[in-house]
Amino acid sequence: MKVPLLDLKAQYRALQPEIDAAVKAVFESQYFILGPEVVACEEAVAAYSQTAHGCGVSSGTDALLIALMNEGIGPGDEVITTPYTFFATAGSIARTGARPVFVDIEPDTYNLRFDQVEAYITPQTKAIMVVHLYGLMADMDPVMALAEKHKLIVIEDAAQAIGAEYKRRRAGSIGDYGCFSFFPSKNLGGAGDGGMVVSQDADKAEKLKTMRNHGMQPKYYNRFIGGNFRLDALQAAVINVKLKYLDEWSRARQANALRYQQLFEDAGIGPEQIELPWMPPSTDPAYTGDCGCRHIFNQFIIRSKQRDALRDHLMGQGIGTEIYYPVPLHVQECFAYLGYAPGDFPESERAATETLALPIYPELTDEQAAAVVACIRAFLA
Ligand SMILES: *Cc1c(COP(=O)(O)O)cnc(C)c1O
Repeated sequence: MKVPLLDLKAQYRALQPEIDAAVKAVFESQYFILGPEVVACEEAVAAYSQTAHGCGVSSGTDALLIALMNEGIGPGDEVITTPYTFFATAGSIARTGARPVFVDIEPDTYNLRFDQVEAYITPQTKAIMVVHLYGLMADMDPVMALAEKHKLIVIEDAAQAIGAEYKRRRAGSIGDYGCFSFFPSKNLGGAGDGGMVVSQDADKAEKLKTMRNHGMQPKYYNRFIGGNFRLDALQAAVINVKLKYLDEWSRARQANALRYQQLFEDAGIGPEQIELPWMPPSTDPAYTGDCGCRHIFNQFIIRSKQRDALRDHLMGQGIGTEIYYPVPLHVQECFAYLGYAPGDFPESERAATETLALPIYPELTDEQAAAVVACIRAFLA
């Protein structure tokens, strides 16, 4: 049985009349840049993520960049982040002229090790860029305590975590800025590139809206050196349709995670063979407690010591997987000037060699999930 890593056509089929109508309405209006669809999208995404303000931007990458620019972060400054993330996290820091300073990850959550962060804070440190990797929020209490103590800005890279919760607070709502991506394969994906920065602070939000439009305020009077980071109306219109379904999709992803857990157990595959991702108790709809945590499973990540051979085997059977991320950022060629070496962040490096993403998209069927686990079982046997 063929199982793709992601099936965006299935999602489109389910929403086609609504999406087509929304797109047509934008064409009828011929209002393509910013405008009412973008304002509606900003309000809806801000409300969804428990924040006061939203600023639609051109991508998740630009959301990170513009948040840094909004704080005037640049040459001579340092920003602490994780080396085990998508390139844009550290790329945006480096593009401002600031220096990305890496701290290793926790092996079970893949998020920053906050007990180590303070050791990396210097007088040059201006911000911490926290990543909520794979849909699980990082431990925000210690981050916020450190930020308060050292007067640092906190930017949440929530590109993979829209709707995730930590102590009942949503991703993006805790730091100074929350950054989302509407890249098509994210949990809330547009029909192209798009993103959003959310903030609780009215002044920061107002400055962001100037910054995304060349720093112009009023027109042709440039207060800051901003850029063209605008969100377009077509993306906003698609997001406005899809946002209504996001909770349903997140529940389906959680159900798939739970199903995988059961299937691995039934197959007798233990953690010494395949390590499954950490799951909060709230993943199970039968859970009635109050852990306050909500994992939205942007990815379902397993670990195997034979990761590459396993991946080849699955690929041979028509099962799509992906490696997020094969090369940690501290050893990327473009960051050689930072002076890091292999061995500096052992957990990030181990994750890079052991982790594999399995299909977890909402439309994945029981039969498909069973086929994935049967195929892994056959490989192990
Ligand atoms: C996808 C992603 C980004 C970048 O978002 P784009 O919209 O593709 O620019 C940044 N950080 C993380 C963690 C991501 O997963």
